[in-house]
Amino acid sequence: MPDDQKPLSPKITRNVRTRLVHDGIRRSQYGEVSEAMFLTQGFVYDTAEQAEARFVELGDDEFIYARYGNPTVRMFEERIASLEGAEDAFATASGMAAVNGALCSMLRAGDHVVSARALFGSCLYILEEVLTRYGVEVTFVDGTDLDQWRAAVRPGTKAVFLEAISNPTLEIIDIKAVSEIAHAQGAMVLVDNVFATPILQRSLELGADALIYSATKHIDGQGRVLGGVILGTKEFIRKTVEPYMKHTGGSMSPFNAWVLLKGLETMDLRVRAQAATALHLASSLAGHEKLSRVVFPGLSDHPQHDLAARQMERGGTVLAIELKGGQDAAFKFLNALEIFTISNNLGDAKSIVTHPATTTHQRLPADQKVSLGITPGLIRVSCGLEDADDLLSDIFAALEVI
Ligand SMILES: *Cc1c(COP(=O)(O)O)cnc(C)c1O
Repeated sequence: MPDDQKPLSPKITRNVRTRLVHDGIRRSQYGEVSEAMFLTQGFVYDTAEQAEARFVELGDDEFIYARYGNPTVRMFEERIASLEGAEDAFATASGMAAVNGALCSMLRAGDHVVSARALFGSCLYILEEVLTRYGVEVTFVDGTDLDQWRAAVRPGTKAVFLEAISNPTLEIIDIKAVSEIAHAQGAMVLVDNVFATPILQRSLELGADALIYSATKHIDGQGRVLGGVILGTKEFIRKTVEPYMKHTGGSMSPFNAWVLLKGLETMDLRVRAQAATALHLASSLAGHEKLSRVVFPGLSDHPQHDLAARQMERGGTVLAIELKGGQDAAFKFLNALEIFTISNNLGDAKSIVTHPATTTHQRLPADQKVSLGITPGLIRVSCGLEDADDLLSDIFAALEVI
């Protein structure tokens, strides 16, 4: 058994930061300190009999082909599963491979799914365009309205899908309440937990049955690679997700797994620093004369602040601000910023500003933009790791330009 996995004395605690550094390590015969990157597609067998045996049943430390599994990928899966307290995890090529894999592996024609409407564009595409094409019926609800969930989830509903915090308007869904509604009808709850982050919200403990992450965001946290992961029971991951993923080709590359494994080591430190910066920016900007709104779940004027306080440890790493002068003011502001980067990622070490109405949410029909609160003056702010007061001075200076 690898050193880092041997059982520890019960007197020694093993909290999140420790687990993010040590768990899942599979040390090779060379005894390397940093996790090895196994850039290999295949694995050799000592004998034909051994090859045959592996195809019958795979042992814990046995691999066949990188699309099925790889030691570096397995280290990443075990480390994040340990963090989440999940029985198992399957790593995917991107966040969208994870969303697609989780849903398509468990659904078939005739099934019914209920989903929150406020979704990341590509998630909406899978639910609205892909699943329906194969005969799955999808009902969309306003995720913050529990009555709509109660009305939509019916006996035989197979799954419920939601993003814990919506993008970019940061509405919060009550995972515990939605899970109770879903479980009462036998439906499985799948949560895309990207905006809540693996550090600030324990969605499995709140009632979710499976979690999905784009590892591209806070898990990498330094804007380098794409990745995703699905977490859940061993039964769901190995019997439902794995057969679908390994045969359809959405597995994570060992190189990306290595980058993300190292990302996990620093994630708790990074996310907490980013969350502290987000709160600092949001509270310093609230009430600014050039802004009509500052949206941040950690501020007491957020419509679901109490739920946020119950469900999350902090308000998150992203805030949204709305400029009074509409798109013209928003563009002037974006172009005047010197430290913030104009881009569309989030969770990065670099602070990033996004104008959702003209980029990430450009293709939404105008009436849907209005109903989701994606106004021409709205800007999403993802807080990075720079000095928080430097970021604030950058924002104040750019607001003066308008
Ligand atoms: C980015 C994102 C995804 C997709 O992840 P990729 O790694 O880009 O494929 C899915 N859901 C949410 C909420 C996201 O922010």
